Amino acid sequence: MRKFKMSLDEYARTNNQPKLLDEYADTNTNSPSEIGCNSTVTVTWICAHGHTETESVQKRIRRGYCSVCGPKSSGSFAQLHPDMLKYWSKKNTVSPYEIPPNYSQPVLWECPEGHSWERKITIQLSVKSCPLCKSSLFVQLPDLLDEWDAEANKGIDPNSVYAYSNTAYMWKCKNGHSYSATPAQLMRRSYRCPVCESFGYLFPDAAAEWNYDKNEAKTPFDFTANSQKNAWFICAECGSEYTSKIANRARRKSSKCPCCSK
Ligand SMILES: [Zn+2]
Ligand SMILES: [Zn+2]
Ligand SMILES: [Zn+2]
Ligand SMILES: [Zn+2]
Repeated sequence: MRKFKMSLDEYARTNNQPKLLDEYADTNTNSPSEIGCNSTVTVTWICAHGHTETESVQKRIRRGYCSVCGPKSSGSFAQLHPDMLKYWSKKNTVSPYEIPPNYSQPVLWECPEGHSWERKITIQLSVKSCPLCKSSLFVQLPDLLDEWDAEANKGIDPNSVYAYSNTAYMWKCKNGHSYSATPAQLMRRSYRCPVCESFGYLFPDAAAEWNYDKNEAKTPFDFTANSQKNAWFICAECGSEYTSKIANRARRKSSKCPCCSK
């Protein structure tokens, strides 16, 4: 004499839910006709996507589907969107194979460039890419990484540097000059090491006549070669002090002062 009014088998047929029978594992001790539809005994279920769950018939009927696959039984997030797995962070405590595609909790993502971010699956599926890659300075200008002064910028992850940031970082150019610049400045590709473009670096002979006493705290490296500013010089020939536009000193071939050139 059986202890239940209706078996799982009868329930599934009466309610047109053949999936309950398909997912009820063959390895269970009782067949679907030998277990009640209200049974609270834990049994095994294997869905069409291969997810194994252990729960009672009562619980399974109440939900009606594999909890990994979700109500549409379309498979786990990983099975449905294998192309998105390259962004799945290992730091997540859930497996992408164990959650439905409409999983509602935010999860962690990581791109091949080392950026990480947190967002819900539905948002990631609509955007499909790394939000930081688009705005990362070194993704925009990879060559600039050669000038990143890791020592001076200690503790700052270069991958986290935003392309249009107005924060100043330290750089070291290919000629070994240290300079400070913001990513926003460097995004203008014409803007690079200011020392390399300075009057002092490009015109060492003229810069040798720089009058350090009279030019206050400024050096020849503080000005570009086409600067229209006046500066003080000391003639190497006669020792007289005179002023000249920096651009004029850069342009003139001879280094003669107004006194010597008379
Ligand atoms: Zn499933
Ligand atoms: Zn990225
Ligand atoms: Zn330089
Ligand atoms: Zn002179």
